Order: sequence, then structure tokens, then C-alpha cells
Amino acid sequence: MIKEILSPLRPDLTPVQLEQFETYYTMLADWNTRLNLTAIILPEDVAKKHFLDSFAAEPYLKNDASILDLGTGAGFPGIPLLILRPDLHVTLMDSQQKKLVFLDAVLKELNLSAECVHARAEDAGQNPCYRERFDAVLTRAVSGLPVLCELTLPLVKVGGISIAYKGDSTEELAASNNALSVLHATAERVSIPSDYGARELVILTKNGTTPKQYPRKAGTPAKNPL
Ligand code: SAH
Repeated sequence: MIKEILSPLRPDLTPVQLEQFETYYTMLADWNTRLNLTAIILPEDVAKKHFLDSFAAEPYLKNDASILDLGTGAGFPGIPLLILRPDLHVTLMDSQQKKLVFLDAVLKELNLSAECVHARAEDAGQNPCYRERFDAVLTRAVSGLPVLCELTLPLVKVGGISIAYKGDSTEELAASNNALSVLHATAERVSIPSDYGARELVILTKNGTTPKQYPRKAGTPAKNPL
């Protein structure tokens, strides 16, 4: 049971939160047989590699922050963070409609609310409803850092942050200097305790407004990174 794995590792979780993680796991395992949501599905692996790993950004999110989980897939890290911090205003975005159907069902079952948006980051970044609207944009397993700079920073408020969940980020950071300078951001890295090899957060701080031409049209950031 997920509850028995999580509870000793995070004794601060309430019975309601533990129950929400249990339900989330059950739905993930069930829908995964049809939707191919994740390769990680054993209870202990889901508890550690998906749920606990998702928690890593929590200390960097201020009270009532508006956060966007971009490329959320099966809901990571957005849903575990929302369970942990119900004060957050969470938007879950993915370019694949089938993921959104799953997320809507999970949120309903968990009795939580979040905005679910079917969009590509490149389009959302040029849409006034989303551009420069978020205190923090989070990405986990979505793309390389130079590409993530262009996909996420247009969506972040000036003064806000973009947090990328990464393994060892040395090389990706070295490749991001141009993107950071063009998009007026600075980077710092924080290591996350983990039993599964190097885990880091790369935290980008947005210091100035994003030039209008970014993000470029869908597909271009990955094809021709800054
Ligand atoms: N964050 C999840 C899923 C990672 S898989 C996790 O950590 O498990 C990457 C997800 O990003 C996929 O669901 C894919 O559809 C989505 N994605 C990739 N590029 C995207 C883009 N440009 N805009 C929106 N979603 C994107």
C-alpha cells in the first residue's frame, strides 16, 4: 500500500493526504493498462520516484502561488504538490489530450481543483491568458534546459521562477548561457536527496520581460534551440 510506504518517509502527511495518494496510485495503475501513462508502476517506485520526487520544489513555492506544471503527463509534479499544498493555484498543461482526460478524472476523485489546459507551451506562451501569468512554472522530464528556457520563461511573471527537475544538470546548464541571456534569466542548481542517483532542481529566476518573439512557433524551440 502506498500509504504504508509514504507515511514513515513523510510523517507530516495527514490521513486525508495519504488517502489521496492511495487513490491517485490506484487510478494510475488502472488507467496505465490502457493509456501508457508511465513506465514506473510498482508501488514503492511510484511512491519514491514520482510522489516524493515531485515534492522537491515545494519549499520554493510561496503561499497561494499560481503554478503551472508544463508537460504534466500523468500529473507530475503538479498533482502531488497540490495534495501537499492545497493553497496552491495549479494549472496542469499538456499537448496530449488523453493525459488531460486522466487528470480530470483524478482531480474529481481526489476532490481537488486545478485548471487543466490542452495546449503546447509554444502557443500558450503567446496567449495573453497565460503569458507572464505564473509565479512558478515547473517541468519534469519535458526537454533539455536550453529548450525549457524558451518554453517556460515567457509564461513566468517578471520576478517569478521556472523550476526544472533534472538529473546531473552540469552539461545542460553550460549549454543554456545564450538562452538565459536572451530571455533575461539567471540559474541556480539545488541537489535533491535521492536513493536513485543524481537529482537536481534547476531554478531559473526571470529578471525582465520576455522579448515578444519568444517562444517561437511550435516545434522551433526544440529543432533550433537558443
Ligand atoms: N512531467 C511528467 C511527464 C513527462 S513526459 C513526468 O514527470 O512524469 C513529457 C510530457 O510533456 C508529455 O506528456 C508530453 O505530451 C508533454 N509535452 C512535451 N512537449 C510539450 C510542449 N511543447 N507543450 C506541452 N506539453 C508538452
